[in-house]
Amino acid sequence: MAVNRNPEIKYTQIFINNEWVNSVSGKTFETINPVTGKVITRVQEGDKADIDKAVKAARLAFKRGSVWRTIDASERGRLLNRLADLIERDVDYLASLETLDNGMPYKRAVHEIRGGLGLLRYYAGWPDKVHGKVIPADGQVFAFTRVEPIGVCGQIIPWNYPLFLLAGKLGPALATGNVVVVKPAEQTPLTALYVANLVKEAGFPPGVVNVVPGYGHTAGAALSEHLDVDKIAFTGSTEVGKLIQIASGKSNGKRVTLETGGKSPLIVFDDANIDEAVVVAHETVFVNQGQTCCAATRLFVQDTIYDKFVEKSVELAKKRQLGDPYETTTQQGPQIDDKQFAKVLKLIDTGVQEGAKLLAGGKRWGTRGYYVEPTVFADVKDSHTIAKEEIFGPVQSILKFKTLDEVVDRANDTTYGLAAGAFTNDVNKALKLFQSLESGNVWINTFLAVKPQTPFGGYKQSGFGREFGEDGLHEYLEIKSVVFKVDEKNS
Ligand code: ADP
Repeated sequence: MAVNRNPEIKYTQIFINNEWVNSVSGKTFETINPVTGKVITRVQEGDKADIDKAVKAARLAFKRGSVWRTIDASERGRLLNRLADLIERDVDYLASLETLDNGMPYKRAVHEIRGGLGLLRYYAGWPDKVHGKVIPADGQVFAFTRVEPIGVCGQIIPWNYPLFLLAGKLGPALATGNVVVVKPAEQTPLTALYVANLVKEAGFPPGVVNVVPGYGHTAGAALSEHLDVDKIAFTGSTEVGKLIQIASGKSNGKRVTLETGGKSPLIVFDDANIDEAVVVAHETVFVNQGQTCCAATRLFVQDTIYDKFVEKSVELAKKRQLGDPYETTTQQGPQIDDKQFAKVLKLIDTGVQEGAKLLAGGKRWGTRGYYVEPTVFADVKDSHTIAKEEIFGPVQSILKFKTLDEVVDRANDTTYGLAAGAFTNDVNKALKLFQSLESGNVWINTFLAVKPQTPFGGYKQSGFGREFGEDGLHEYLEIKSVVFKVDEKNS
């Protein structure tokens, strides 16, 4: 791993039609280093006019008879593999850039980018393997379905795993022959812009991938409201997810898929491998500064092992290394920005006010940037705000339970349903759990087991539609039913 503490910033413009352009308004915005709170660089600020240009370029690339519409499906797979090769070639640079822009530890950034590569390679294998069916329909007919790309897809990316989530959106969209306009998060536009250049180097035709950096309420809203955009794939907050549905309804009823918030329960029974459960529970709530939509933010521990479990969890949290994210020993960097930093500290304060027992952390770490100490609360009640609201920070909340039935009801008592998990060595408990947990992902004896091959998405207000796996492809496909009347006389 070759860490580069000062990665050169190569791309700060808007990428449309395989070309770099300035914003129509001439405006730029700052992207901030969360370690120092200082400006890294200024980036061209896309808005409605730039989204219009990008959508036009994408539409042209999607036109009947265009290069993109007529290349072999297998060639789309080759291009995706080529893009993955280029990201792999530049993984050290990209990880250095991600660390600078997002603040995640460098080691984590490498892991994130390798995860994105896994997604791209998984989808690179699909283009010539996704197809319709022949159907024995009623009457003298020959009927079949054909799967077709939806068209111009807006992809709105959050800041917590910028490159991984970009790869997870580009992969299925491009495998199925769509064209895209990407709007990266305003906090972290840099890796998406670098990847845009790799898209060009890989040989994708102009207009197939366009990247417009800018703010959510301007560029993001313009994309969601656009009359010539056929679909929005969004990852971010539940609140903005709802706005996107409204924008779709008010404009052209474009397809929408949402991956939004979570308040994921992890349940530990006394028959489990406790030492392993402590470590996994710790890692899957604190990873990425707690900025993970499916983090284990409600940790239910059986009463018989509760005190010991809490003690071990506190020990681990106190040992967690915070610091310079470029140091390989650093486990935790800063929160993404001043807004999130203030929100996390406020929720910690609410936890204390409402009577949860603060056993580790609870304060700002250091004197600059947006670091928050790894924080552990015990004796958390279901009614506490910290057990209900998504904190998106390094805060572990440990709750106590007695029986399986009780804990399932409590685990399900949330507006979210992104992930849930349990540690148990009793197969009957595991069977009961994965049937009754109301969640798009259930992980047994592991957690955060997000894989390229398995669909990922939410129940309830955690969103709808699935990303990753074969199901992720179908979110980018229309199904056309074709029915031929069979002419009996000539057959
Ligand atoms: P978070 O709360 O985690 O910052 P957001 O949901 O605000 O997440 O942001 C996720 C993505 O959605 C970002 O790219 C952001 O710019 C974008 N976004 C924010 N507001 C809107 C909006 N009104 N319409 C479309 N996109 C938006």
